[in-house]
Amino acid sequence: MDDNKLAELIFPKLEGTIAELEAGFPERDLKKGAYVTRFAPSPTGYMHIGGLYAAMISARLAEQTNGIFYLRIEDTDKKRELEGGVEEIIQSLAGYNVVFDEGPFPGGETNYGPYKQSERKEIYQICVKELVRKGHAYPCFCTPKELDEIRREQEEKKDDIGYYGNYAACRNLTYEQIEEKIKNNVPFVIRLKSEGDREKHIRYNDPIRGNIEMPENCMDIVLLKSDGMPTYHFAHVVDDHFMRTNLVVRGDEWMASYPVHKQMFDMCGFEAPDYLHISPIMKMEGTTKRKLSKRKDPEAAVSFYLKEGFPTESVREYLLTIANSNYEEWHAANPQQTENDFVLSLSKMPASGALFDMVKLENVSKERIALFSTEYCEKQILTWAKIYEPDLYQFAQTHQEQFAKTIELWKVAGKKVRKDVSKWSQLMQMFDYIYQPQEKFEQTVSYEIDEKYSKEQMIEVISAYKENLFLDSDEWFAQMKILGEPMGYCPEMKEYKKHPEDYKGSISDLCTIVRVAVTGRKNSPDLYTIMNVLGEEIVQRRLDHFLAQLTEE
Ligand code: GLU
Repeated sequence: MDDNKLAELIFPKLEGTIAELEAGFPERDLKKGAYVTRFAPSPTGYMHIGGLYAAMISARLAEQTNGIFYLRIEDTDKKRELEGGVEEIIQSLAGYNVVFDEGPFPGGETNYGPYKQSERKEIYQICVKELVRKGHAYPCFCTPKELDEIRREQEEKKDDIGYYGNYAACRNLTYEQIEEKIKNNVPFVIRLKSEGDREKHIRYNDPIRGNIEMPENCMDIVLLKSDGMPTYHFAHVVDDHFMRTNLVVRGDEWMASYPVHKQMFDMCGFEAPDYLHISPIMKMEGTTKRKLSKRKDPEAAVSFYLKEGFPTESVREYLLTIANSNYEEWHAANPQQTENDFVLSLSKMPASGALFDMVKLENVSKERIALFSTEYCEKQILTWAKIYEPDLYQFAQTHQEQFAKTIELWKVAGKKVRKDVSKWSQLMQMFDYIYQPQEKFEQTVSYEIDEKYSKEQMIEVISAYKENLFLDSDEWFAQMKILGEPMGYCPEMKEYKKHPEDYKGSISDLCTIVRVAVTGRKNSPDLYTIMNVLGEEIVQRRLDHFLAQLTEE
Protein backbone atom coordinates (compact mmCIF):
# COMPACT_ATOMS: atom_id res chain seq x y z
CA MET A 1 0.00 0.00 0.00
CA ASP A 2 1.07 3.57 -0.63
CA ASP A 3 1.45 4.84 2.92
CA ASN A 4 1.74 8.45 1.82
CA LYS A 5 -1.62 8.18 0.12
CA LEU A 6 -3.10 6.56 3.24
CA ALA A 7 -1.76 9.35 5.46
CA GLU A 8 -3.39 11.96 3.19
CA LEU A 9 -6.64 10.01 3.19
CA ILE A 10 -6.80 9.99 6.98
CA PHE A 11 -5.48 13.52 7.62
CA PRO A 12 -6.33 15.33 4.37
CA LYS A 13 -5.64 18.92 5.35
CA LEU A 14 -3.09 18.44 8.06
CA GLU A 15 0.20 20.22 7.37
CA GLY A 16 3.46 19.84 9.30
CA THR A 17 6.15 17.32 10.02
CA ILE A 18 8.01 15.95 12.99
CA ALA A 19 11.11 17.79 11.78
CA GLU A 20 9.22 21.09 11.93
CA LEU A 21 8.02 20.29 15.43
CA GLU A 22 11.60 19.50 16.43
CA ALA A 23 12.63 22.94 15.23
CA GLY A 24 9.68 24.61 16.97
CA PHE A 25 10.40 22.98 20.33
CA PRO A 26 14.20 22.97 20.47
CA GLU A 27 16.28 21.34 23.19
CA ARG A 28 16.12 23.43 26.34
CA ASP A 29 19.12 25.52 27.09
CA LEU A 30 20.00 24.18 30.53
CA LYS A 31 23.14 23.23 32.41
CA LYS A 32 24.27 19.63 32.17
CA GLY A 33 22.54 17.53 34.81
CA ALA A 34 19.52 19.83 35.09
CA TYR A 35 16.28 17.91 35.25
CA VAL A 36 13.17 18.86 33.36
CA THR A 37 10.34 17.21 35.26
CA ARG A 38 6.60 17.53 35.22
CA PHE A 39 3.41 16.81 37.05
CA ALA A 40 0.75 15.50 34.71
CA PRO A 41 -2.62 15.08 36.42
CA SER A 42 -6.09 14.74 34.99
CA PRO A 43 -8.18 17.74 36.00
CA THR A 44 -10.66 15.86 38.16
CA GLY A 45 -10.20 18.26 41.08
CA TYR A 46 -9.26 15.41 43.38
CA MET A 47 -5.75 15.49 44.74
CA HIS A 48 -4.42 12.19 46.07
CA ILE A 49 -1.66 12.26 48.68
CA GLY A 50 0.33 10.08 46.25
CA GLY A 51 -0.04 12.86 43.67
CA LEU A 52 1.37 15.39 46.10
CA TYR A 53 4.19 12.98 46.87
CA ALA A 54 5.08 12.56 43.19
CA ALA A 55 4.76 16.29 42.50
CA MET A 56 6.95 17.14 45.44
CA ILE A 57 9.66 14.75 44.32
CA SER A 58 9.55 16.06 40.75
CA ALA A 59 9.65 19.68 41.91
CA ARG A 60 12.62 19.13 44.19
CA LEU A 61 14.64 17.20 41.63
CA ALA A 62 14.19 20.05 39.16
CA GLU A 63 14.92 22.70 41.75
CA GLN A 64 18.01 20.97 43.11
CA THR A 65 19.52 20.83 39.63
CA ASN A 66 18.40 24.28 38.43
CA GLY A 67 16.06 22.61 36.00
CA ILE A 68 12.43 23.16 35.10
CA PHE A 69 9.29 21.77 36.68
CA TYR A 70 6.08 22.18 34.76
CA LEU A 71 2.40 21.33 34.97
CA ARG A 72 0.75 19.51 32.12
CA ILE A 73 -2.95 18.86 32.25
CA GLU A 74 -3.99 15.50 30.86
CA ASP A 75 -7.49 16.43 29.81
CA THR A 76 -7.95 14.10 26.89
CA ASP A 77 -10.93 12.55 28.62
CA LYS A 78 -13.45 15.36 28.80
CA LYS A 79 -15.91 13.26 30.76
CA ARG A 80 -13.68 13.26 33.82
CA GLU A 81 -12.99 16.95 33.79
CA LEU A 82 -14.20 19.12 36.63
CA GLU A 83 -14.82 22.83 36.38
CA GLY A 84 -12.07 24.70 38.22
CA GLY A 85 -10.07 21.48 38.56
CA VAL A 86 -6.85 23.01 37.22
CA GLU A 87 -6.94 25.98 39.59
CA GLU A 88 -7.61 23.61 42.43
CA ILE A 89 -4.53 21.55 41.60
CA ILE A 90 -2.32 24.63 41.36
CA GLN A 91 -3.68 26.10 44.59
CA SER A 92 -3.46 22.99 46.66
CA LEU A 93 0.08 22.23 45.53
CA ALA A 94 1.14 25.83 46.13
CA GLY A 95 -0.08 25.38 49.69
CA TYR A 96 2.52 22.64 49.98
CA ASN A 97 5.22 24.79 48.47
CA VAL A 98 5.15 22.88 45.20
CA VAL A 99 5.34 25.62 42.61
CA PHE A 100 5.51 25.27 38.84
CA ASP A 101 7.91 27.11 36.58
CA GLU A 102 5.63 26.58 33.62
CA GLY A 103 2.06 25.55 33.03
CA PRO A 104 -1.44 26.61 31.98
CA PHE A 105 -1.69 29.65 34.21
CA PRO A 106 -0.95 33.36 33.81
CA GLY A 107 2.81 33.78 33.50
CA GLY A 108 3.33 30.04 33.04
CA GLU A 109 2.94 29.77 29.26
CA THR A 110 6.12 29.45 27.19
CA ASN A 111 7.01 28.26 23.69
CA TYR A 112 6.91 24.69 24.98
CA GLY A 113 3.16 24.94 25.55
CA PRO A 114 0.26 24.70 25.28
CA TYR A 115 0.17 22.88 28.60
CA LYS A 116 -3.24 21.29 28.25
CA GLN A 117 -3.39 18.18 26.12
CA SER A 118 -6.77 19.17 24.71
CA GLU A 119 -4.98 22.11 23.04
CA ARG A 120 -2.22 19.97 21.53
CA LYS A 121 -4.38 17.90 19.22
CA GLU A 122 -2.59 19.05 16.10
CA ILE A 123 0.83 18.11 17.48
CA TYR A 124 -0.28 14.52 18.12
CA GLN A 125 -1.91 14.28 14.73
CA ILE A 126 1.16 15.53 12.89
CA CYS A 127 3.17 12.81 14.62
CA VAL A 128 0.61 10.12 13.88
CA LYS A 129 0.35 11.20 10.28
CA GLU A 130 4.06 10.75 9.96
CA LEU A 131 3.91 7.31 11.58
CA VAL A 132 1.22 6.31 9.06
CA ARG A 133 3.38 7.66 6.27
CA LYS A 134 6.25 5.50 7.47
CA GLY A 135 4.06 2.41 7.76
CA HIS A 136 4.19 2.37 11.57
CA ALA A 137 0.50 3.06 12.16
CA TYR A 138 -2.85 2.22 10.59
CA PRO A 139 -6.56 2.88 11.07
CA CYS A 140 -8.66 0.27 12.85
CA PHE A 141 -12.43 0.14 12.39
CA CYS A 142 -13.19 -2.71 14.78
CA THR A 143 -16.32 -2.15 16.82
CA PRO A 144 -16.45 -2.82 20.57
CA LYS A 145 -18.42 -5.94 19.74
CA GLU A 146 -15.74 -7.21 17.36
CA LEU A 147 -13.04 -6.48 19.94
CA ASP A 148 -15.05 -8.46 22.46
CA GLU A 149 -15.19 -11.41 20.13
CA ILE A 150 -11.44 -11.34 19.63
CA ARG A 151 -11.01 -11.30 23.36
CA ARG A 152 -13.30 -14.24 23.87
CA GLU A 153 -11.44 -16.26 21.28
CA GLN A 154 -8.13 -15.42 22.96
CA GLU A 155 -9.48 -16.47 26.33
CA GLU A 156 -10.66 -19.77 24.91
CA LYS A 157 -7.33 -20.45 23.27
CA LYS A 158 -5.46 -19.17 26.31
CA ASP A 159 -3.64 -16.73 24.06
CA ASP A 160 -2.36 -13.31 25.13
CA ILE A 161 -5.18 -10.78 25.25
CA GLY A 162 -4.94 -7.79 22.93
CA TYR A 163 -4.86 -6.58 19.35
CA TYR A 164 -1.85 -8.10 17.60
CA GLY A 165 -0.56 -10.50 14.97
CA ASN A 166 -3.27 -12.49 13.24
CA TYR A 167 -5.94 -11.08 15.51
CA ALA A 168 -5.24 -7.58 14.22
CA ALA A 169 -7.75 -7.78 11.38
CA CYS A 170 -7.48 -4.15 10.30
CA ARG A 171 -3.75 -4.46 9.68
CA ASN A 172 -4.53 -6.13 6.42
CA LEU A 173 -7.19 -3.83 5.02
CA THR A 174 -6.53 -2.58 1.50
CA TYR A 175 -6.45 1.10 0.63
CA GLU A 176 -9.79 0.74 -1.12
CA GLN A 177 -11.42 -0.88 1.91
CA ILE A 178 -10.16 1.89 4.14
CA GLU A 179 -11.24 4.58 1.70
CA GLU A 180 -14.71 3.11 1.52
CA LYS A 181 -15.11 3.05 5.30
CA ILE A 182 -13.81 6.56 5.76
CA LYS A 183 -16.15 7.81 3.04
CA ASN A 184 -19.01 6.18 4.94
CA ASN A 185 -17.93 7.85 8.17
CA VAL A 186 -17.21 4.59 9.97
CA PRO A 187 -15.53 5.57 13.24
CA PHE A 188 -11.91 4.49 13.59
CA VAL A 189 -8.90 4.66 15.84
CA ILE A 190 -5.25 4.73 14.81
CA ARG A 191 -3.12 1.86 16.03
CA LEU A 192 0.59 1.35 16.26
CA LYS A 193 1.85 -1.33 13.86
CA SER A 194 4.05 -3.12 16.33
CA GLU A 195 7.11 -4.91 15.11
CA GLY A 196 7.99 -6.12 18.57
CA ASP A 197 8.93 -9.69 19.32
CA ARG A 198 7.96 -11.15 22.68
CA GLU A 199 10.92 -13.48 22.58
CA LYS A 200 13.27 -10.52 22.60
CA HIS A 201 13.94 -8.45 25.70
CA ILE A 202 14.57 -4.81 26.24
CA ARG A 203 16.56 -3.50 29.14
CA TYR A 204 16.34 -0.34 31.08
CA ASN A 205 18.06 1.03 34.10
CA ASP A 206 15.70 2.19 36.81
CA PRO A 207 17.37 4.40 39.42
CA ILE A 208 15.36 2.69 42.16
CA ARG A 209 15.18 -0.89 40.97
CA GLY A 210 18.35 -1.25 38.98
CA ASN A 211 18.48 -3.11 35.67
CA ILE A 212 15.12 -4.29 34.47
CA GLU A 213 14.45 -6.62 31.58
CA MET A 214 11.08 -6.92 29.90
CA PRO A 215 9.79 -8.56 26.73
CA GLU A 216 9.31 -6.28 23.74
CA ASN A 217 5.81 -5.01 23.07
CA CYS A 218 3.94 -6.75 20.30
CA MET A 219 0.50 -5.20 20.80
CA ASP A 220 -0.93 -2.80 18.25
CA ILE A 221 -2.00 -0.34 20.90
CA VAL A 222 -4.23 2.63 20.16
CA LEU A 223 -2.44 5.92 19.50
CA LEU A 224 -5.38 8.13 18.60
CA LYS A 225 -8.91 7.52 19.81
CA SER A 226 -11.92 7.89 17.53
CA ASP A 227 -12.35 11.52 18.62
CA GLY A 228 -8.84 12.25 17.33
CA MET A 229 -7.39 12.65 20.81
CA PRO A 230 -4.36 10.63 21.90
CA THR A 231 -4.27 7.83 24.45
CA TYR A 232 -2.15 8.35 27.56
CA HIS A 233 0.62 6.26 25.99
CA PHE A 234 0.95 8.29 22.85
CA ALA A 235 0.47 11.66 24.53
CA HIS A 236 3.20 10.76 27.00
CA VAL A 237 5.66 10.08 24.19
CA VAL A 238 4.83 13.16 22.13
CA ASP A 239 4.50 15.61 25.02
CA ASP A 240 7.45 14.51 27.06
CA HIS A 241 9.56 14.63 23.92
CA PHE A 242 8.51 18.05 22.67
CA MET A 243 8.25 19.60 26.10
CA ARG A 244 11.76 18.25 26.56
CA THR A 245 11.19 16.35 29.78
CA ASN A 246 14.33 14.41 30.60
CA LEU A 247 13.14 12.69 33.78
CA VAL A 248 9.64 11.25 33.94
CA VAL A 249 8.59 10.76 37.55
CA ARG A 250 5.43 8.68 37.66
CA GLY A 251 3.66 5.94 39.58
CA ASP A 252 5.09 2.45 39.24
CA GLU A 253 1.80 1.21 37.79
CA TRP A 254 3.22 2.60 34.52
CA MET A 255 6.39 0.56 34.67
CA ALA A 256 4.85 -2.33 32.75
CA SER A 257 4.15 0.10 29.89
CA TYR A 258 7.81 0.96 29.48
CA PRO A 259 8.35 -1.41 26.51
CA VAL A 260 5.52 0.11 24.51
CA HIS A 261 6.63 3.64 25.37
CA LYS A 262 10.20 2.92 24.40
CA GLN A 263 9.00 1.40 21.15
CA MET A 264 7.02 4.53 20.30
CA PHE A 265 9.95 6.80 21.12
CA ASP A 266 12.07 4.74 18.74
CA MET A 267 9.49 4.69 15.97
CA CYS A 268 9.05 8.44 16.16
CA GLY A 269 12.82 8.88 16.11
CA PHE A 270 12.86 10.46 19.60
CA GLU A 271 15.29 9.85 22.41
CA ALA A 272 13.48 8.34 25.40
CA PRO A 273 13.74 10.23 28.72
CA ASP A 274 14.91 8.70 31.97
CA TYR A 275 12.21 7.35 34.26
CA LEU A 276 11.72 7.29 37.97
CA HIS A 277 8.87 4.94 38.81
CA ILE A 278 7.83 5.69 42.35
CA SER A 279 6.13 3.27 44.69
CA PRO A 280 2.65 4.04 45.89
CA ILE A 281 1.76 4.91 49.47
CA MET A 282 0.17 1.87 51.08
CA LYS A 283 -2.17 1.02 53.88
CA MET A 284 -2.50 -2.11 55.98
CA GLU A 285 -5.86 -3.80 55.76
CA GLY A 286 -6.00 -6.85 57.97
CA THR A 287 -2.82 -8.64 57.05
CA THR A 288 -2.48 -7.31 53.53
CA LYS A 289 -0.93 -4.16 52.19
CA ARG A 290 -2.91 -2.21 49.65
CA LYS A 291 -2.72 1.17 47.96
CA LEU A 292 -4.39 4.10 49.70
CA SER A 293 -7.71 4.28 47.95
CA LYS A 294 -9.58 7.38 46.91
CA ARG A 295 -12.88 5.61 47.52
CA LYS A 296 -12.18 3.94 50.85
CA ASP A 297 -9.65 6.09 52.68
CA PRO A 298 -10.32 9.69 53.65
CA GLU A 299 -6.60 10.10 54.35
CA ALA A 300 -5.87 9.45 50.66
CA ALA A 301 -7.05 12.98 49.86
CA VAL A 302 -4.78 15.97 50.34
CA SER A 303 -7.85 17.89 51.51
CA PHE A 304 -7.99 15.59 54.56
CA TYR A 305 -4.72 17.02 55.91
CA LEU A 306 -5.85 20.55 55.31
CA LYS A 307 -9.09 19.94 57.13
CA GLU A 308 -7.35 18.27 60.08
CA GLY A 309 -5.07 21.29 60.26
CA PHE A 310 -1.73 19.58 59.77
CA PRO A 311 0.76 22.30 58.88
CA THR A 312 1.90 21.81 55.30
CA GLU A 313 5.52 21.74 56.56
CA SER A 314 4.71 18.65 58.62
CA VAL A 315 3.15 16.82 55.71
CA ARG A 316 6.08 17.71 53.46
CA GLU A 317 8.53 16.54 56.04
CA TYR A 318 6.65 13.31 56.58
CA LEU A 319 6.56 12.64 52.85
CA LEU A 320 10.31 13.18 52.72
CA THR A 321 10.79 10.52 55.38
CA ILE A 322 9.02 8.17 52.98
CA ALA A 323 10.85 9.42 49.90
CA ASN A 324 14.39 9.05 51.23
CA SER A 325 15.43 6.52 53.84
CA ASN A 326 18.22 8.79 55.09
CA TYR A 327 15.98 11.78 55.80
CA GLU A 328 15.56 11.08 59.50
CA GLU A 329 19.23 10.54 60.06
CA TRP A 330 19.98 13.79 58.26
CA HIS A 331 17.33 15.59 60.30
CA ALA A 332 18.74 14.32 63.61
CA ALA A 333 22.20 15.51 62.58
CA ASN A 334 20.90 18.91 61.42
CA PRO A 335 18.14 19.82 63.86
CA GLN A 336 18.19 23.51 62.98
CA GLN A 337 17.65 22.94 59.28
CA THR A 338 14.23 22.40 57.79
CA GLU A 339 13.02 19.97 55.19
CA ASN A 340 13.70 22.61 52.54
CA ASP A 341 17.43 22.19 53.06
CA PHE A 342 17.45 18.45 52.49
CA VAL A 343 18.86 17.19 49.20
CA LEU A 344 16.72 14.42 47.78
CA SER A 345 18.55 11.55 46.20
CA LEU A 346 17.24 9.24 43.51
CA SER A 347 19.10 6.22 44.76
CA LYS A 348 17.56 6.38 48.23
CA MET A 349 13.96 6.09 47.15
CA PRO A 350 12.06 3.04 48.37
CA ALA A 351 11.59 0.24 45.87
CA SER A 352 8.39 -1.00 47.43
CA GLY A 353 5.36 0.87 48.71
CA ALA A 354 5.77 2.53 52.10
CA LEU A 355 3.01 2.21 54.65
CA PHE A 356 1.33 5.44 55.55
CA ASP A 357 1.86 5.91 59.27
CA MET A 358 -0.45 8.47 60.87
CA VAL A 359 1.23 8.24 64.27
CA LYS A 360 4.54 9.06 62.67
CA LEU A 361 3.04 12.00 60.82
CA GLU A 362 1.69 13.26 64.14
CA ASN A 363 5.08 12.93 65.78
CA VAL A 364 6.84 14.68 62.93
CA SER A 365 4.23 17.39 63.18
CA LYS A 366 4.59 17.88 66.95
CA GLU A 367 8.32 18.42 66.50
CA ARG A 368 7.70 20.79 63.63
CA ILE A 369 5.09 22.87 65.43
CA ALA A 370 7.42 23.13 68.43
CA LEU A 371 9.88 24.96 66.14
CA PHE A 372 7.30 27.49 64.93
CA SER A 373 7.25 30.94 66.48
CA THR A 374 4.12 32.05 68.29
CA GLU A 375 3.41 34.56 65.53
CA TYR A 376 3.71 31.92 62.87
CA CYS A 377 1.39 29.57 64.74
CA GLU A 378 -1.07 32.40 65.16
CA LYS A 379 -1.13 33.10 61.45
CA GLN A 380 -1.46 29.43 60.55
CA ILE A 381 -4.22 28.75 63.06
CA LEU A 382 -6.18 31.78 61.92
CA THR A 383 -6.03 30.71 58.28
CA TRP A 384 -7.12 27.23 59.21
CA ALA A 385 -9.81 28.18 61.73
CA LYS A 386 -11.38 30.68 59.36
CA ILE A 387 -12.46 27.77 57.19
CA TYR A 388 -12.77 24.85 59.58
CA GLU A 389 -13.42 26.04 63.15
CA PRO A 390 -15.58 29.17 63.48
CA ASP A 391 -15.55 29.28 67.32
CA LEU A 392 -11.79 29.29 67.43
CA TYR A 393 -11.61 31.90 64.68
CA GLN A 394 -14.07 34.10 66.50
CA PHE A 395 -12.07 33.83 69.71
CA ALA A 396 -8.83 34.66 67.95
CA GLN A 397 -10.42 37.68 66.30
CA THR A 398 -12.03 39.13 69.40
CA HIS A 399 -9.31 38.24 71.91
CA GLN A 400 -6.12 38.83 69.97
CA GLU A 401 -3.80 39.28 72.91
CA GLN A 402 -5.28 36.40 74.86
CA PHE A 403 -5.14 34.18 71.84
CA ALA A 404 -1.38 34.69 71.56
CA LYS A 405 -1.09 33.79 75.23
CA THR A 406 -2.90 30.51 74.66
CA ILE A 407 -0.27 29.53 72.13
CA GLU A 408 2.45 30.13 74.69
CA LEU A 409 0.38 28.11 77.09
CA TRP A 410 0.53 24.92 75.06
CA LYS A 411 3.94 25.52 73.52
CA VAL A 412 6.01 26.33 76.54
CA ALA A 413 6.20 24.84 80.02
CA GLY A 414 8.77 26.70 82.08
CA LYS A 415 11.99 26.46 80.09
CA LYS A 416 10.82 23.46 78.09
CA VAL A 417 9.05 23.44 74.76
CA ARG A 418 6.04 21.16 74.96
CA LYS A 419 5.26 18.85 72.07
CA ASP A 420 1.57 18.16 72.53
CA VAL A 421 -0.03 19.62 69.44
CA SER A 422 0.27 17.94 66.05
CA LYS A 423 -2.59 19.59 64.17
CA TRP A 424 -4.78 22.62 64.62
CA SER A 425 -7.99 20.62 65.00
CA GLN A 426 -6.57 19.31 68.27
CA LEU A 427 -6.66 22.78 69.78
CA MET A 428 -10.40 22.75 70.03
CA GLN A 429 -10.37 19.31 71.61
CA MET A 430 -7.64 20.18 74.08
CA PHE A 431 -8.73 23.71 74.92
CA ASP A 432 -12.43 23.90 74.20
CA TYR A 433 -12.77 25.45 77.66
CA ILE A 434 -10.76 28.42 76.48
CA TYR A 435 -11.89 28.90 72.90
CA GLN A 436 -15.60 28.09 73.20
CA PRO A 437 -18.12 30.82 73.88
CA GLN A 438 -19.36 30.65 77.49
CA GLU A 439 -22.84 29.51 76.47
CA LYS A 440 -21.42 26.56 74.61
CA PHE A 441 -19.15 25.72 77.51
CA GLU A 442 -22.13 25.63 79.84
CA GLN A 443 -24.08 23.42 77.48
CA THR A 444 -21.34 20.91 76.91
CA VAL A 445 -19.17 20.79 80.02
CA SER A 446 -18.92 17.51 81.89
CA TYR A 447 -16.99 18.14 85.09
CA GLU A 448 -14.25 15.64 85.94
CA ILE A 449 -14.99 15.55 89.63
CA ASP A 450 -12.88 13.34 91.87
CA GLU A 451 -15.03 11.36 94.29
CA LYS A 452 -12.78 12.24 97.17
CA TYR A 453 -14.20 15.78 97.22
CA SER A 454 -17.59 16.23 98.86
CA LYS A 455 -20.15 18.58 97.44
CA GLU A 456 -20.07 20.79 100.55
CA GLN A 457 -16.33 20.95 100.42
CA MET A 458 -16.35 22.11 96.80
CA ILE A 459 -19.09 24.65 97.49
CA GLU A 460 -17.05 26.05 100.37
CA VAL A 461 -13.87 26.34 98.30
CA ILE A 462 -15.50 27.92 95.28
CA SER A 463 -17.57 30.34 97.33
CA ALA A 464 -14.44 31.49 99.14
CA TYR A 465 -12.40 31.74 95.94
CA LYS A 466 -15.14 33.77 94.23
CA GLU A 467 -14.65 36.55 96.77
CA ASN A 468 -11.20 37.29 95.41
CA LEU A 469 -9.81 35.67 92.32
CA PHE A 470 -6.28 37.08 92.81
CA LEU A 471 -6.06 37.38 89.05
CA ASP A 472 -3.81 40.41 88.93
CA SER A 473 -1.59 39.15 91.70
CA ASP A 474 1.95 38.00 90.88
CA GLU A 475 1.64 35.78 93.90
CA TRP A 476 -1.43 33.83 92.94
CA PHE A 477 -0.18 30.58 94.40
CA ALA A 478 0.89 32.21 97.68
CA GLN A 479 -2.53 33.85 97.90
CA MET A 480 -4.20 30.51 97.38
CA LYS A 481 -2.21 29.08 100.26
CA ILE A 482 -3.39 31.87 102.51
CA LEU A 483 -6.97 31.35 101.35
CA GLY A 484 -6.88 27.60 101.92
CA GLU A 485 -5.22 27.34 105.27
CA PRO A 486 -8.13 28.47 107.46
CA MET A 487 -10.42 26.07 105.56
CA GLY A 488 -8.11 23.18 106.38
CA TYR A 489 -5.94 22.91 103.24
CA CYS A 490 -2.31 22.38 104.09
CA PRO A 491 -0.13 24.98 102.34
CA GLU A 492 2.99 22.79 102.23
CA MET A 493 2.99 19.47 100.42
CA LYS A 494 5.79 18.03 102.52
CA GLU A 495 3.95 18.75 105.69
CA TYR A 496 0.71 17.42 104.27
CA LYS A 497 2.33 14.14 103.29
CA LYS A 498 3.57 13.65 106.82
CA HIS A 499 0.16 14.22 108.48
CA PRO A 500 -2.65 13.98 105.94
CA GLU A 501 -5.12 13.08 108.65
CA ASP A 502 -4.77 16.58 110.15
CA TYR A 503 -6.16 18.26 107.01
CA LYS A 504 -9.10 18.36 104.62
CA GLY A 505 -6.63 18.34 101.82
CA SER A 506 -3.54 20.07 100.42
CA ILE A 507 -3.00 23.24 98.45
CA SER A 508 -2.99 20.98 95.42
CA ASP A 509 -6.54 19.78 96.20
CA LEU A 510 -7.64 23.37 96.61
CA CYS A 511 -6.27 24.26 93.19
CA THR A 512 -7.78 21.15 91.62
CA ILE A 513 -11.26 22.11 92.80
CA VAL A 514 -10.85 25.57 91.26
CA ARG A 515 -9.40 24.04 88.10
CA VAL A 516 -12.37 21.70 87.66
CA ALA A 517 -14.78 24.58 88.21
CA VAL A 518 -13.07 26.80 85.63
CA THR A 519 -12.07 24.30 82.96
CA GLY A 520 -14.14 21.21 83.69
CA ARG A 521 -10.90 19.22 83.69
CA LYS A 522 -8.72 17.68 86.39
CA ASN A 523 -5.58 18.50 84.45
CA SER A 524 -4.69 21.55 82.40
CA PRO A 525 -1.72 23.76 81.66
CA ASP A 526 -1.08 26.64 84.04
CA LEU A 527 -4.42 27.54 85.61
CA TYR A 528 -3.48 31.10 86.51
CA THR A 529 -2.66 31.85 82.86
CA ILE A 530 -5.85 30.19 81.70
CA MET A 531 -7.92 32.35 84.02
CA ASN A 532 -6.14 35.46 82.88
CA VAL A 533 -6.86 34.58 79.30
CA LEU A 534 -10.51 33.99 80.10
CA GLY A 535 -10.79 37.22 82.10
CA GLU A 536 -12.49 37.92 85.38
CA GLU A 537 -16.01 38.04 84.06
CA ILE A 538 -15.90 34.63 82.42
CA VAL A 539 -14.12 33.10 85.42
CA GLN A 540 -16.91 34.38 87.67
CA ARG A 541 -19.52 32.93 85.35
CA ARG A 542 -17.73 29.59 85.33
CA LEU A 543 -17.63 29.52 89.13
CA ASP A 544 -21.31 30.45 89.31
CA HIS A 545 -22.21 27.76 86.81
CA PHE A 546 -20.25 25.17 88.77
CA LEU A 547 -21.93 26.20 92.01
CA ALA A 548 -25.33 26.09 90.35
CA GLN A 549 -24.65 22.57 89.11
CA LEU A 550 -23.56 21.46 92.56
CA THR A 551 -26.55 22.91 94.36
CA GLU A 552 -28.97 21.67 91.71
CA GLU A 553 -28.00 18.02 92.05
N1 GLU B 1 -2.12 11.42 33.94
C1 GLU B 1 -1.29 10.32 34.32
C2 GLU B 1 -1.73 9.83 35.68
O1 GLU B 1 -2.36 10.59 36.39
C3 GLU B 1 0.12 10.78 34.39
C4 GLU B 1 1.13 9.71 34.53
C5 GLU B 1 2.49 10.33 34.24
O2 GLU B 1 2.97 11.07 35.09
O3 GLU B 1 3.02 10.10 33.15
O4 GLU B 1 -1.49 8.72 36.06
